[in-house]
Amino acid sequence: MTAIRQKNVTAAQWSANGSDVAPADLTKEENVVFGSNVFSIKTQKERLPADVFARLQGTLEKGEALDVELADAVADAMKDWALENGATHYTHVFQPLTGLTAEKHDSFFRPTDDGGSIAKFKGSELIQGEPDASSFPTGGIRATFEARGYTAWDPTSPAFLLDNPNGTLLCIPTAFASWTGEALDAKIPLLRSMDALSRSAVRALKLLGDEEASRVVTTVGPEQEYFLIDEQYFYARPDLLLTGRTLFGAQPAKGHELDDHYFGAIPERVLAYMMDCEAELAKLGVPITTRHNEVAPAQYEVAPMFENSNVGSDHQQLLMQILQNKARKYGLVCLLHEKPFAGVNGSGKHNNWSMGTDTGHNLLDPGDTPSENLSFLFFCAAVIQAVDKHQGLMRATVANIGQDHRLGANEAPPAIISVFLGGELEKVFETMAAGEGDPHTPEEVLDLGAEVLPDLPMDGGDRNRTSPFAFTGNKFEFRALGSSMSLAFTNTVLNTIVAEAIDDLSAKLEAAEGDLTARVIKVVTESYIENRRIIFGGDGYSDEWQQEAEKRGLKNLRTTPDALPEVIAPSTIEVFGSYNVLSERELEARFEVWVEQYAMNANIEAETAATIARTLIIPAVAKHLVLLDDADAELLEKESRGLFNELVERTIALEDANGYPDGLEEEGMELAIYARDRQLAAMHEVRVIADRLERIVADNYWPLPKYSEMMFIK
Ligand code: ADP
Ligand code: MG
Repeated sequence: MTAIRQKNVTAAQWSANGSDVAPADLTKEENVVFGSNVFSIKTQKERLPADVFARLQGTLEKGEALDVELADAVADAMKDWALENGATHYTHVFQPLTGLTAEKHDSFFRPTDDGGSIAKFKGSELIQGEPDASSFPTGGIRATFEARGYTAWDPTSPAFLLDNPNGTLLCIPTAFASWTGEALDAKIPLLRSMDALSRSAVRALKLLGDEEASRVVTTVGPEQEYFLIDEQYFYARPDLLLTGRTLFGAQPAKGHELDDHYFGAIPERVLAYMMDCEAELAKLGVPITTRHNEVAPAQYEVAPMFENSNVGSDHQQLLMQILQNKARKYGLVCLLHEKPFAGVNGSGKHNNWSMGTDTGHNLLDPGDTPSENLSFLFFCAAVIQAVDKHQGLMRATVANIGQDHRLGANEAPPAIISVFLGGELEKVFETMAAGEGDPHTPEEVLDLGAEVLPDLPMDGGDRNRTSPFAFTGNKFEFRALGSSMSLAFTNTVLNTIVAEAIDDLSAKLEAAEGDLTARVIKVVTESYIENRRIIFGGDGYSDEWQQEAEKRGLKNLRTTPDALPEVIAPSTIEVFGSYNVLSERELEARFEVWVEQYAMNANIEAETAATIARTLIIPAVAKHLVLLDDADAELLEKESRGLFNELVERTIALEDANGYPDGLEEEGMELAIYARDRQLAAMHEVRVIADRLERIVADNYWPLPKYSEMMFIK
């Protein structure tokens, strides 16, 4: 049997590496593990002296900095709790601009004079760490002579224990900044944006007659798609190993055309894996609610319940980490790439987003009373306005190299941002818009309000899977994120641009005349009319929409290099600056980092493809030619020889493209565009031929596991 077929047989006979999760009796209290590895408010209350607990909560509520004495007391309790649970080390976890999480472990134990050791954890160590910033992307913010950066404890995201078979790690969520105070991470701007939105929304609520709310919190509920394949295939494919996706691979005879995978019975190995992940996540306080098979063979989805944006975003990073770690125990590898298999449905991430008051009111919930509805229409209009004004930036938040295979490819939303309101809500806005403009009919406007507003039956309204940004009853769902992405920047942008729109509408509300209902309707209507070009309820996958969107003046930013400049567009710099979320310098740094990441990733793909073509595929085809020659199979040999020559030529052309030509600016947009138009294009040319050859070269010569194996053996 060939080497790869042998892998298939082994893959089909998997058994768990290590123990399985024994089913627990969930009626017993000790088996209910939710949050058991979290230094939660409940744990803090049990562990901290009463006065320390009260002072900590008070400080957090006011958003003040912790004094040293308080920090010492908290650190001490945290250390004891961690040690009792098997921890030997602690780490500040943070999210640098790599999009991944970073950690550096420090031991609790210090040697003592008598040759023993003692566990110590000081408040200062809890509050602040000092990793060397020079090895993280900074986009030029850090001068090389001052490489220091620091991490600062974020007490609003709970510390937790990460278990490993050989010990436990105390993880402290932190922010990461340069020594001069610039944000070098994803968390700082997110926290700043949450504050900004809260201030704007509380101001608006006061104008709308809600005097009680003192804080508004944004929420995020993600839905995560991923692929699982047997690890033997993964490690037999240099492209998967280095780039996270297959750079070669012919379409299998069977894809998802039978629709037999979506919501199908979950294969046993996969379900065992999912349950294990969920058990681990439960301990970490990540509330998983949903699991199911997704559209493509070997594709799945997991969704936690929504939480505040900061915690939800930290939990999402943790979720991706657990998904990847646990897979190995089941002989699987979890692929979070946006497009691991060409021609097969890719993986995205939905970002359900809303705003809620500290009094328990979801601002995007239409509600039962006319006043609640007024408030709803106001905030909904603000979201529409924000998304229309900053559509390019919204597109940029979901840009990465993997997304370029997905967005606009008839399986994911188009690269054009639009808003889907659903038939009924759209009708409400349209009715208001139609009644606008006659200053002599305030009664009518009011009537319209009274008549239309009380029943806004949006619950479970119609759905549109092709829309990138859809209203779904009591929240907006941004559906264009990629599966590997952090939620932080998308939510930072949403919060910031909506804060701006809320303030704009609030100012107009203050300036308008008449009673509250009339003023709200006027402001909402005007905003809607101005921004309604962004509303689209039709088929986002269709060609007609591309043309229609162009007519409407909507942006269609097809690739990452097209989209990223929106990060430093004047409208972005203005809104991020005026809400103190990111300065122009901080935005430029991010832009620079992301452009560079695109170019580097493209280069890694192109180099990997060239190597695979030259060292694996070309030799395999050469052997096949000998086989045909020996067999005097002239017709077949001629066919294969033609393709072989073509493959060699195209591989050389790819290698040429990979050697950057003289005069090319080897950084910035110029390099990114070169990578897209020359390297990725040349790589595609090689692939087309190689994939044809995969179908005709003798199976036992073909050096890479095929799609038909990787996706179907579970
Ligand atoms: P689907 O989009 O697949 O139809 P649901 O409508 O059941 O799924 O819910 C999708 C997601 O919306 C869930 O992950 C849930 O946590 C999230 N969600 C619900 N309410 C909110 C909210 N107020 N803010 C943010 N996310 C929310
Ligand atoms: Mg969804």
